[in-house]
Amino acid sequence: MSVVRTVRGDIGPDQLGPTDSHEHLFFVTRLQPGDEMADLEAAVTEAGTLWEAGGRTLVDWTPLGLGRSPEGLLHVSLATGLHVVGATGVHRDAHYPPEGPLRAETEEGLARRFVADITARDAPAGVIKVGASYHRLQPLEKKAFAAAALAYQETGVPICVHTEHGTMGLGIVEHLLGLGVPPTAVVLAHLDRNPDAGEHAETAATGAWLQLDGPGRTKYWPDSTILRLISDLAESGSSAQLLLGGDTGRSSTMRSYGGGPGLDYLFARFKPRLERELGPELSQLIFVDNPARAFAFEPRPGAQRSPAA
Ligand SMILES: [Zn+2]
Repeated sequence: MSVVRTVRGDIGPDQLGPTDSHEHLFFVTRLQPGDEMADLEAAVTEAGTLWEAGGRTLVDWTPLGLGRSPEGLLHVSLATGLHVVGATGVHRDAHYPPEGPLRAETEEGLARRFVADITARDAPAGVIKVGASYHRLQPLEKKAFAAAALAYQETGVPICVHTEHGTMGLGIVEHLLGLGVPPTAVVLAHLDRNPDAGEHAETAATGAWLQLDGPGRTKYWPDSTILRLISDLAESGSSAQLLLGGDTGRSSTMRSYGGGPGLDYLFARFKPRLERELGPELSQLIFVDNPARAFAFEPRPGAQRSPAA
């Protein structure tokens, strides 16, 4: 029986409800100085706005070494009622300093850390995050991909991938397939940063999940670009593989830190517009039915959580 592993424990995929497939409630990286998110009460307040806008599940993609806080996510989940799926894993190379401790880890060592996070008694991780650079995989990234594949083999937990500017989606799927990970267990993020429906349709033909997560990033492109992309992908038959996230990701975009447009933008503004322009069936598919399949997995023997002490 397949489950979704949340920080409060395993739930049935049908319990997810409307899902924001990509967020960060805690995130500290050298790439975004001044944009740190490490405040527990701000996270609770911000996540609460998602609940008020109709969201019921949030997937947090912050991996190791970047302010990741499983306890914080658990606190937010208990305080707001949201189901929260947390991540383990390693982001793309540039987020880590040259002398960072993760670089010294072996592939096997990283895999052991990922599995330990997934099987943790308290606030377990429910996805494995890895990251790619612009059109290439750097050594740390290759190591993280290999470790993620090992952790996947052991647990069955899906692998969620940061693509840089939406590049290399197909290459990433092929690379993971070569490591024994089926495309159906792979979620590719940020594909709307290269809004090319033709290329995405080719990637979708493999069976991988396509995630668009840029609504509200108005200085880069308007929401209408994402709506057109969704409509083109639906027309080419990929709608059952689409996911949407806010990827708010910075304190300057969170209202609880004094920024905007806020974590609830995806649900409060973009979702109603999608329903008006593309119809409620597509919305139901992208916000409810697809996440319930994308983040679900059949737990393998190695996914069993550590018993209470
Ligand atoms: Zn992100």
